[in-house]
Parts: sequence; C-alpha cells; structure tokens
Amino acid sequence: MPTFDFDLFVIGGGSGGVRAARMAAQTGARVGLAEAADLGGTCVNVGCIPKKLYSYAAGYAESFEEAAGYGWKLPAEPQFDWSHLKSQRAKEISRLNGIYASLLKNSGVTLITGWAQLVDGHTVEIDGKRHTARHLLVATGGTPFVPEIPGREHIVTSDAMFDLDPFPKRLLVVGGGYIACEFASIFNGLGSKVTQLHRRAHLLTGFDDDVRQFLANEMGKAGVDVRLNCEASSIARGPDGLVVTLARGQQIEADTVLFATGRVPNTQGLGLEAAGVKLDESGAIAVDAHYRTSVPSIYAVGDVSTRVQLTPVALAEAMVVVDALFGKGKRRMDYEFIPTAVFTHPNIGTCGYTELDARAKFGEVTVFSSEFKSLRHTLSGRSERTFMKLVVDKKSDRVVGLHMVGADAGEVVQGFAVAMRAGATKAIFDSTIGIHPTGAEEFVTMREPMPG
Ligand code: NDP
Repeated sequence: MPTFDFDLFVIGGGSGGVRAARMAAQTGARVGLAEAADLGGTCVNVGCIPKKLYSYAAGYAESFEEAAGYGWKLPAEPQFDWSHLKSQRAKEISRLNGIYASLLKNSGVTLITGWAQLVDGHTVEIDGKRHTARHLLVATGGTPFVPEIPGREHIVTSDAMFDLDPFPKRLLVVGGGYIACEFASIFNGLGSKVTQLHRRAHLLTGFDDDVRQFLANEMGKAGVDVRLNCEASSIARGPDGLVVTLARGQQIEADTVLFATGRVPNTQGLGLEAAGVKLDESGAIAVDAHYRTSVPSIYAVGDVSTRVQLTPVALAEAMVVVDALFGKGKRRMDYEFIPTAVFTHPNIGTCGYTELDARAKFGEVTVFSSEFKSLRHTLSGRSERTFMKLVVDKKSDRVVGLHMVGADAGEVVQGFAVAMRAGATKAIFDSTIGIHPTGAEEFVTMREPMPG
C-alpha cells in the first residue's frame, strides 16, 4: 500500500471545497486544502452573501417610500452612503473569511495558502512543494464569462460590482440571467438609473414563462429600463462616460457597464491535462454520478463541474463525495426539485418544473395561478403585485412546479420545497390550513384551475 501525506487533498476553499474538507476531517481522515485567495469562494466574497446584503440595502429605499402610507413622517430625504455600505460589507466578509479559517482549523484540516497544480492522480504542487494524497478533490468554482466585443476593456463583471468607486449614477447591465437581474434590481433600489439589455424576448431563460413576464413588468414598474431583444455591439469611452452602441445603432451612456453574461468553470492553470483529467464539451470537468473524473483518484464538485451552479448544490455534492470516501457509503445526488431564488425586487422563488417542462415530462398538467396586491401595499402606496403559480401532474395529483414572484419568495418557497420533495399532492396542499394574513397562504387556497 503506498503511503500518502493526506487521505484527501482539496483544491479550492469555496463552498464545496471547505465543506468536503471539514466533513472528511471530522471522520478522522487526514485532510489538506489549498486556496490562493480569501476563503469562502464566490459565494462569500463576490456572490450570494455580499449580494444579499446589498439587496437588503436596496430594500430600505422601498421601505422609506412606503412608510408615509403608514403614518411615518421622515425628517428629510433619506441619504444613502455607498462608502459606508461598502466598508460594512467588507468587515462582514472578513469576519466570514475568518470563520471559514477557524472551521477548517478546528476540524483538523491543514490549510495551505497558495496556487495548487495537479502533478498526477495523487500529487499536487504548491509553490514548488509537492503533497501526496490518496484522493484529490477539485472544487475551484467558476468565473464570469464576457463575450468578445469591441471595448470589452471598459466593462466590469459581477466581481467588481461590490466595490465600485464612485457609485454609478447610470448603470447599464447586459444579460438577462440571475446575476444581471439581481444587480439591475439592487442598483435601481440604491439610486442608480439602470438600463438592462437582454438579447431574448424574455428575462431569465429556463424560468416559468409567466414568472419571466411578471418579473420584467415589476422591475419596469420599479424603475429599471428593461430592453428586450436588444444586444450591445460595442463600448467606447466618451466625454461624459461610457457609450454603449446597440446592435440596432442606438447609443446609451452609462458610468458603469456590467456584463453578467454567464460564468465558466475555473479549469485553467490547474494541471488538469497533465494529470489526465478530461473536460466535457462545455469546458467543465467531466464527472460521473459520483463526481469521479476521468482519473479515478480525482473528484470534482460545484461550479467547476457545472451541473447546477448553486452553493447548496455544491455543498450537497461535497457530502456525496465525503460519504463515499470516508462515511456512509456510495449514494447519488438527486437533482429534482431543487428550490432556488432570484433576489430581484420583488424576489423570485421557484421549485420544480416550469409549466412547459412539466407538460413535456408529465403530459397532462393542471395549472393554478394567482396575482394580487399584498396587504402591505394596500397602505404603502406601492403598486407592486405578487404572482403565484402551481403546476400539478394530473395523473398523480402531485405538485410538480411551484413559482412565486413577490416579497420574501425565497423564504416562502424553501418550506414548500420540503413538501414537494416529500411528494405532496394538490389534495394535501388543499387540506393544509393557511396562515392568515400572509401571501404564502395563497399556495394552499388556490381552487380554480386555469382554463386549458
Ligand atoms: P445565467 O446563465 O443565469 O445568465 C447569463 C445571461 O447572459 C443570460 O441571460 C444569457 O442569455 C446572457 N448571455 C450569455 N451570453 C451572452 C452574450 N454573448 N451576449 C449577450 N448576452 C449573453 O448566468 P449568470 O452569470 O447570471 O449566473 C450564473 C449562475 O450562477 C446562474 O445560472 C445561477 O445558477 C448562479 N447564481 C445563482 C444566484 C442565486 O441563487 N440567487 C445568484 C447569482 C448566480 P440567454 O438567456 O439568451 O442564454
């Protein structure tokens, strides 16, 4: 039996990597982890966490506006201090980086700061020093993708959005996915004049069509200038800011241009080829159902092996690997009914199939939907509306799609996702007592199916 320095060596200290390292170490395995940047990866440093903090910040603008309807007289026009928000965020993120470091330390993981490269199926090299391990795990995440376009050097990606200086009075966002919609909403709330360009007829490809239309309408009402079927063809610096020329010739001026046009796996400079690790046609590390790469001793989880680019999915994949190598044994991750939220204003929360996908998979479906002004907005003066939709498989009566656009949709949908994973039928939804008065109760009181 060969001897190794470690039982498991993890490359990448983001969500998936840290979870795998900690949990493996807690079983008694000897674990090493290499990270070249701050611990926590995209989610902690330039993704989920700072984004959600900024989304809260943007939400106050709405609350100030709404307060008058409830009898509050605010002393003066509220002022927003961008520098203060940035420094508060930076402080919180450093705190989280520290927590990640102590979690690793306390579980006995050897943390090595530096860039790791694979040498072979059992060896990594960091700053000229080699370490061997029985198993290797690549969890290096992803990075923003920007298409080739004249003037590309003038744009920023989501990585730079949290520390922009100065605050962009005019922001142009290119893209119609999660990141584009979230930043458009957030900066609109914080006071930027936001224009969002998307090349398709609807935002958020892959989401339910009703949700896509409803959200674009609500974002428009909130002040985002959403331009659909619209592409940027070049960017140049003009006397008063950046000038973005659209494919149809029109020009838009902006202080910051954000390209949120997807993300690609971080596979460069890792020695993957030398070690014999194969990529799939999308450029992600190819893995089997157990996250094993083309080299049997090397595994990959999270965005670098791109199945579903979500932090909780990377965490769950990491646990499948740890269980297989050091724990309960081999099992497969189930990707059905993964709930997700888009932190736009209002939020989207969704679980299961879109109406279109459900029709394709289950055949006949029954659809229930509801659109209303929430109780909060009867006095707030806002015209924001809430949308909810259920898609039910006619044969089994199982609720196979649940979609919401409205306040705290992520919080609402998380609980319903448990019921959906447990196979809840529409009859069970109907027999569930609502909590009154909430928006969420609408999901258990929809009785009349949509025609057709
Ligand atoms: P998405 O894949 O969600 O969206 C990319 C967008 O860019 C799409 O609208 C796409 O258009 C458009 N696009 C792609 N290429 C071009 C191009 N050449 N020119 C113009 N537009 C283009 O990626 P994101 O970067 O927004 O996010 C990546 C992933 O990260 C998400 O899919 C999600 O899994 C995860 N994420 C999750 C969040 C959450 O849970 N709240 C938040 C942020 C990210 P088209 O629709 O035509 O393909």
